[in-house]
Amino acid sequence: MRGGSSFIGGGGAVTGPQTDIKKHDTGCGPGELCIVGIGPGALEHMSPKGRSALEKSHVVVGYKTYIELIRELLIDKKIISTGMKDEIKRAGQALNEATAGQKVALVSGGDSGIYGMAGLVLEMAIRRNIGIGHDVLLEIIPGIPAFTAAASLLGAPLMHDFASVSLSDLLTPWEVIQNRIEMAAQGDFVIILYNPKSKKRDWQLSTVKDIILKYRRPETPVGIVSSATREGQRINVSTLSHMGRYEVDMQTIIIVGNSSTFRAGDFMITPRGYLDKYL
Ligand code: SAH
Repeated sequence: MRGGSSFIGGGGAVTGPQTDIKKHDTGCGPGELCIVGIGPGALEHMSPKGRSALEKSHVVVGYKTYIELIRELLIDKKIISTGMKDEIKRAGQALNEATAGQKVALVSGGDSGIYGMAGLVLEMAIRRNIGIGHDVLLEIIPGIPAFTAAASLLGAPLMHDFASVSLSDLLTPWEVIQNRIEMAAQGDFVIILYNPKSKKRDWQLSTVKDIILKYRRPETPVGIVSSATREGQRINVSTLSHMGRYEVDMQTIIIVGNSSTFRAGDFMITPRGYLDKYL
């Protein structure tokens, strides 16, 4: 809890007029915007707090796939659902409704602060000079992100240091992405690959694999999880050299092990070092 403190932007990363941003954590009242991380898919993975924010809201804004995932909770709500790449529109609509005095829930898949809607809403509020804490109360409710959902289905691949890289080059230049992969591979981080593929973007994964292979064994375990906790869930453990054999889509997340990650049956385990030290 930031408990009544004010801050301006994100440590200088955000430019714009000064906005008195106060956070609020006592549940939703009038003129409120709750940004709810709904988790990876199945409703049982949404936090009770996220669920209660949805129940209390009058207006629910979200990407249509996420609206469908939570449809049964949305009886008697005004629903504003938009398509992919409509993030700015969604954030704008949520802010408009909230500044007009509505109780709004903006839903975001997984956690809203991980390649999600939370940052965009804060940046837009600053850009529009909306006083959070005055014009609208804001609460960001965390959700289970896809990477922890996937890790738990694979076993325990994230027991040691890890880095997450999104392969989407829509907002980030490919050179930056490639360099981050290179650095993470060199640093022996377990590597989480978000957005590994889209309809128009299918070439990057093999380039990424080649970069990682410069630093890691071809037999390094790789977990490929699609639609975690959703209908059609798929879990595969492969190796760096063979990962290309598995189906990857827009609901897939990939976890590449570090130099000590091993496979045991269907499990992928990255040892933290307990047994070497204490047994
Ligand atoms: N905010 C989300 C990430 C959104 S980016 C989070 O906290 O996880 C969208 C990407 O997340 C997808 O392309 C995919 O790589 C991953 N993803 C989201 N839900 C997933 C799921 N249920 N199973 C596997 N990957 C998922």
